[in-house]
Amino acid sequence: MQLSKRIQQITTDGSDGWEILYKSRAMIAKGQDVLELTIGEHDIRTDPKILAAMHQSALGGHTGYASVPGTPELRRAVAARVQERTGVPTSHKNVLITPGGQAGLFAAILCATDPGDGVVHLDPYYATYPTSIRAASCVPMPIKTGPENDFQPSAADLATRPEGARAFLMNSPNNPTGNVYSTETIEAVAEYVQNNDLTLISDEVYDTQIWSGAHVSPRALPNMAERTIVIGSMSKSHAMTGSRIGWVIAPEGAIENMIDLATNTTYGVAGFVQDAALFALSQGEVFEEKIAASFKRRREIALSILQGFPNIPMIAPRGGMYLMLDVRKTGLSGIEFANRLLDERSIAVMPGESFGDSAAGHIRVAMTITDDRFGDALRGLCEYAESLMHG
Ligand code: PLP
Repeated sequence: MQLSKRIQQITTDGSDGWEILYKSRAMIAKGQDVLELTIGEHDIRTDPKILAAMHQSALGGHTGYASVPGTPELRRAVAARVQERTGVPTSHKNVLITPGGQAGLFAAILCATDPGDGVVHLDPYYATYPTSIRAASCVPMPIKTGPENDFQPSAADLATRPEGARAFLMNSPNNPTGNVYSTETIEAVAEYVQNNDLTLISDEVYDTQIWSGAHVSPRALPNMAERTIVIGSMSKSHAMTGSRIGWVIAPEGAIENMIDLATNTTYGVAGFVQDAALFALSQGEVFEEKIAASFKRRREIALSILQGFPNIPMIAPRGGMYLMLDVRKTGLSGIEFANRLLDERSIAVMPGESFGDSAAGHIRVAMTITDDRFGDALRGLCEYAESLMHG
């Protein structure tokens, strides 16, 4: 079959960066006990109360085509949530319900760009950013950031004029670094976006997982609501990764166009999933804190363990479910370290390189197994790194 250039160029080197995950899954399938710290998914399943609401909705008949933009009730609930959390007036007309944040990201990129346009994003980045940008026939324009500044962009990083760019994609709380950008950083990004007349796509899917500092949505800054598309998701906040439900927040006109796109791509989200999401949102903040609590706890465990390993610096984990560790003193790249750790110690972590050149020599550790196993895995990982440094 003749394949389009567009679809063939999604992954440039044939790698999607997830090889370690596939390798560890193959080992687990063969019965090996692997301490699996790769993927960003909770070790708990979706709460039975949410599943009961989903079941009830399906039994009640919400199994036909659902409203493409989202049910009016869910769009209103999401709008009210966003307004309450950010103070920005938001109505259901600013909301499109999507099958997860990923579909929202792709819709946002298509909404903000034309083929050939550049999309600026920070490096390190969530693994699907460059691939989603290329899938939209656009060009990724990474801005490299460094560990010395916890991978936050500095004024110098934001000084270059992004020739050919139409959009800027940012993510705070950040995957993979665990950073929550400071107000100053968010303000600097807002200024950069306005000075260069870009649309800002703000991926906020970890906004319920803040451990230090405060999450500032750039849409709430002066003059930003008109040029910002926010991506939200129930995946991380409500442990609903498999239900595939999230949203896009944008100016009304942009949402109308993204509804056209949804009509021609996803044709909406299952009605019973939307009803379950509505129920889940009604459970309030205490419920969301419960979902996030294990990551908060494991972050504390990690801080305490890493005190004993000064040769393995960690980027201050301020939010989300990941830690970013600097293993450069082992003399190995992140990829070599992750492969050897898996082969020799049966501990699976993601190499920093999967998230961009800026994270070379680092590894991303997902805090997604039970506290005891997590502690053992992190200690094992650090001891292994130390043995390489002294070996
Ligand atoms: N954005 C970031 C930064 C993520 O880490 C993820 C998932 O890991 C997503 C978006 C997409 O999440 P989902 O499609 O499950 O909502």
